[in-house]
Amino acid sequence: MRIAIIGGGPAGLRAAEIAAEGGASVTLYEAKPSVGRKFLVAGRGGLNLTKSEPREQFVTRYLGPAAEPGRWSSLIAEFDPEALRAWAAGLGIETFIASTGRVYPRELKAAPLLRRWVQRLRDRGVQFAVNHRWQKLRPGLPVTLHFDVHGASHTVTADAVILALGGGSWPQTGSDGSWTEILLELGIKVSRLEPANCGWEVAWSPEVLAVAEGQALKNIVVRAGEVAAAGELLITRYGLEGGGIYQLGPALRAMREPALTIDFKPTFTAEQLVAKLGGATKNLFQIARERWRLGEAALTILLQTLPDRTSAEGLAGAAKGCTLRLSGPRPIAEAISSAGGVSWSELDEGLMLRRLPGVFVAGEMIDWEAPTGGYLIQGCFATGTRAARAALRFLGNREQA
Ligand SMILES: Cc1cc2nc3c(=O)[nH]c(=O)nc-3n(C[C@H](O)[C@H](O)[C@H](O)COP(=O)(O)OP(=O)(O)OC[C@H]3O[C@@H](n4cnc5c(N)ncnc54)[C@H](O)[C@@H]3O)c2cc1C
Repeated sequence: MRIAIIGGGPAGLRAAEIAAEGGASVTLYEAKPSVGRKFLVAGRGGLNLTKSEPREQFVTRYLGPAAEPGRWSSLIAEFDPEALRAWAAGLGIETFIASTGRVYPRELKAAPLLRRWVQRLRDRGVQFAVNHRWQKLRPGLPVTLHFDVHGASHTVTADAVILALGGGSWPQTGSDGSWTEILLELGIKVSRLEPANCGWEVAWSPEVLAVAEGQALKNIVVRAGEVAAAGELLITRYGLEGGGIYQLGPALRAMREPALTIDFKPTFTAEQLVAKLGGATKNLFQIARERWRLGEAALTILLQTLPDRTSAEGLAGAAKGCTLRLSGPRPIAEAISSAGGVSWSELDEGLMLRRLPGVFVAGEMIDWEAPTGGYLIQGCFATGTRAARAALRFLGNREQA
């Protein structure tokens, strides 16, 4: 049983692990000179492996069109956050749950985990073929795969293939989304890759930037249409970054004229804020800054967006709902992840492409998205696990037939 895995991110490495444990002869093909480059980037600010959260809530974080109801419940049930922590412990990597529920390796870094993981895969017989850029697939059993290896073409066959080619963000790590063309040519429905968990552009005035650039807006609630999220916003030269706006990505992308509304004082009503001003009619901003405990950055943004600068009600209303027009998302190359990818309708329960028997798909290249918080890596592990188990079953069934 020869299983070819293409793509050496967490989804592909996990699929290789399951396939090798299942007794297959596994080769993992990777375009870059080494595997796990985006995984290493993810570890730079602390590798958030998963999240400790009740299962019912956890599975609602996975968004995207046309995922059959219950699909994520079933995928996460197959490899859940506890299983991921136990898996890391098996590599000698202890994890901890932060106060936010986010789960990290004790050392925070990705490199020690990746090193041990790759070594264990080698010990289990997984062959690594790096500098192999996948270019084409000829359907049939066995499946024929064409690679570019340092400019020369190289052809191999495999009894089953697992594609784990990632999304389209941070192309320098190897995940450049160029696989979409190959699958589209094979008649597979793929939705356009779009930036997710990304910054958005705002045309800040020089006055706002002079005061607020580099500052974080904290303890706020942000809204895009009907969707609300709590989380920080970081003011940058080009616009906004941060957990608050990342969570609103799907809602913002769906708006014809994307706009973000900030509630700077979510624990007070507008009436309570007015009352705190104590009937003052002069120096309203000064008094509001002190009595509402508004930071410089928030105050400056309010000043720039407020049509009515004189009334307490106008100021309180703006503090509760300050709307900023967004010019668009930052480029996909800068995003943490991407939305879009292989349509769920193309996949069976085992993540096999219905049109290409023996070819399975895992990881971020499927049409789903999730906020930051560890859901992305957990989703990659869960889909890698499912695809590899299904590939083993597929081959077992064929051998018996
Ligand atoms: C800055 C940053 C921080 C992040 N932090 C976190 C975090 O803390 N927690 C979290 O859950 N997620 C985080 N993520 C997201 C997470 O890293 C990704 O969701 C995850 O790596 C996707 O895994 P994957 O296996 O699907 O694909 P990838 O990790 O993207 O791997 C795909 C692999 O396929 C290879 N490939 C692509 N095309 C070809 C081809 N034609 N031929 C051969 N090989 C090819 C690529 O070189 C790559 O190695 C972060 C991402 C970024 C950019």
